[in-house]
Amino acid sequence: DEDFEPIIRRGDLKRYKDKDLFETVEEVFDTKTVMTILYLMRKRIIRRMNGVISAGKEARVYLGFGWKNEPLAVKIYLTSTAVFKKGMLKYIIGDPRFEDFKPGDTRDIIYAWTRKEFRNLKRMFNVGVKVPKPIAFKNNILVMEFMGENNKRYPLLIEAYSHLSINELRKIYEYILEELFKTVCKANLVHGDLSEYNIMIKPGPDIVIIDVSQAVHIDHPNSLEFLIRDINNINRFFREKVGLDELENVDEILEVVKKC
Ligand code: ADP
Ligand code: MN
Repeated sequence: DEDFEPIIRRGDLKRYKDKDLFETVEEVFDTKTVMTILYLMRKRIIRRMNGVISAGKEARVYLGFGWKNEPLAVKIYLTSTAVFKKGMLKYIIGDPRFEDFKPGDTRDIIYAWTRKEFRNLKRMFNVGVKVPKPIAFKNNILVMEFMGENNKRYPLLIEAYSHLSINELRKIYEYILEELFKTVCKANLVHGDLSEYNIMIKPGPDIVIIDVSQAVHIDHPNSLEFLIRDINNINRFFREKVGLDELENVDEILEVVKKC
C-alpha cells in the first residue's frame, strides 16, 4: 500500500548512528533534526518517514506514518537557512504569548516558530476552525494530521479552482470567510498569510486552512494590518482569478469582526 520508500525506519536507527550518513540523505536532516525525529519515534508519535510532500524555503513537509499506520504530515523547519529569521521575529515579538521570549541563537527562533505554529493550530482546532489536527511538536518539527486521501494530499485552492464550478467557488469563498471569522472571534488569532496557497480543497467541496505559523494574537500591534491584508488577498484572488462578482467589502468584514 506504499508509494514511497521510507527514508528512515525505526529499526534502522542503530545502523544509522553516523551523522554523515544522515547528511547525505537531505540537507534538512542535520544531526539535531535527526535526533528530534528519533525522539518522536521513541515517543511513538512517528513510526516511519516517507517521501517529501513539499519543499519550501523555510520548511519541508513529509508524509509520515504513526503507530496505528495513520498518515501524518511532518513539517520540518530548516535550521540552516538564515534568510527568514529576522522576518519571523516580527510575528513573535509583540505577541503577548511570547512575552518572555529572548532569542539566543537562530535555532531558538526556529524552535519558537515551530512551537508557535503548534499552539496556533491547537487554538484554532479547539474552537472548530478547519485546520489539520495538531499531534505533536519538538524543536523544529511539527506533526499534524495528514490532509488528503490515499496518501495523496488535497489540492491547494490555487491548484483546484480551475476545475471547480462557479457555484462551488462561491461556496468556498463563503467557507473561507466563515473560517476567518471563527479564527478572529473564537481563536482570537489572525492568520496573517491567508491566500489561495494556504487553503486546501477537500471533496464536497470543503476547505482546510493550513500554514498557521505566522498567525498572531489579536492583541498583537499589527493584527489589524495582517487581517486587512488577508481579506484583500482572498478578495483579490476571487475577483481577479475566479471572476466572482458578489464579494464582501473589507470594511463590512471588519465591522462584523469588531462586534464579535
Ligand atoms: P510553507 O508554505 O511555509 O512551506 P505549508 O504549511 O504551507 O508550509 O506547507 C507546505 C505544503 O505542504 C502545503 O502547500 C501542502 O501542499 C503541504 N501540506 C502542509 N500541511 C499539510 C497537511 N497537514 N496535510 C497534507 N499536506 C500538507
Ligand atoms: Mn504555505
